[in-house]
Amino acid sequence: MTIPLSMPDIGQREIECVTRALRSGQLSLGPAVEEFESKFAAYVGTRHAVATNSGTSALHLCVKALGIGCDDEVLTSSFSFPASVNCLLYEHALPAFVDIDPETLNLSPAEVRKMLAREYRWDAAQQRAVNRQSGRRLKAILPVHVFGLPCEMGPILEIAREFNLSVIEDACEAIGAEWYGRRVGTFGDAAAFAFYPNKQLTTGEGGMIVTDNPRVASVCRSLRNQGRGEDGEWLLHVRLGFNYRLSDLHCALGLAQLERIEELLTARERLAAGYAERLSGIPELFLPPRRPNAKRSWFVYPVRLGAAEPRALRARLMARLKERGIASRAYFGAIHRQPYFEAIQLSTNRPLPATESASESCLALPFFPSMSHEQLERVCEAVREILREARSAAPYATGLARAAAV
Ligand SMILES: *Cc1c(COP(=O)(O)O)cnc(C)c1O
Repeated sequence: MTIPLSMPDIGQREIECVTRALRSGQLSLGPAVEEFESKFAAYVGTRHAVATNSGTSALHLCVKALGIGCDDEVLTSSFSFPASVNCLLYEHALPAFVDIDPETLNLSPAEVRKMLAREYRWDAAQQRAVNRQSGRRLKAILPVHVFGLPCEMGPILEIAREFNLSVIEDACEAIGAEWYGRRVGTFGDAAAFAFYPNKQLTTGEGGMIVTDNPRVASVCRSLRNQGRGEDGEWLLHVRLGFNYRLSDLHCALGLAQLERIEELLTARERLAAGYAERLSGIPELFLPPRRPNAKRSWFVYPVRLGAAEPRALRARLMARLKERGIASRAYFGAIHRQPYFEAIQLSTNRPLPATESASESCLALPFFPSMSHEQLERVCEAVREILREARSAAPYATGLARAAAV
């Protein structure tokens, strides 16, 4: 039997709620949307929430509502899912890639500072940092809470204040995560969450914008609904909008999942602890770090391969796991190294060593709330054996492994 990488956790309650929505006769723009939005806002701790049909569309509307557009630059990291950059390109804005912290894999505030000093000048007339080379204005910073670990939001907000930047949190992998006891999604001008089936909370497909800013919320509401006005006139279109609506069926599913979010997150936390216990002490394997002031919301279980050639060792591990019916995935691959992004030559000459190193060495192992004790044992035993065997095979023997074997 194969062990998948992820699997949604759908219970009887979810089926009941979706069935009720189906029978209600109102499949879109009905009461489930508003209820999901208000309960989600209450959970995260923001004034407003606007449901959308994906995390990507949530990010896109945040960008648009904050007035980020043609030739504006946005600081963000390349170690992410491409959606966090695509949302800028849709509006003809450009990412300014900052390297990540090699341990947390999140955007590094120290690297942001260095880059600002080196590559930008302050333009007092515009009240913006301007790229010395291109002359483009820096408008925002878009931190991604990678693998559910919160970014260093204090230093990021400080930079944002200092350089007049909007902050958009990509919280798509981090529902329930906390930085100094405060939930992610509450720090930025706006934040996006995502509900694809591999996420901690799923609606099948779906996303959510959260914000404290009533104008941002109202513009997002209009944009997701074909640019309709806010005064309720159904056929009054006041701006260029989209159909980014989330149906009542999806919201009903989301409501049922939100009711038991603590249970879902706790199951993931327990699983992560199980992995940490069973995989510790393997010399080639670095486990996801814990941070003293951050509560991670476990999205996947990302390990890193430490070897002279991590990419080769990872490929070998993945292939052997597959032979044993165990799924795993190499991600993220750095966005600036993806074929499309290479083709449009997004990457500047700025080196991103930590990003590249992480994208060569990260591996996600099977991770879902209903994963059984036996499945966990099977994965960990397989990882241990495969790496032990690799250690003795010549091309993969590493200084690290040899040292450990002595
Ligand atoms: C899942 C995810 C998104 C949004 O994904 P959708 O599939 O559009 O819902 C955006 N950013 C990150 C980092 C993600 O993991």
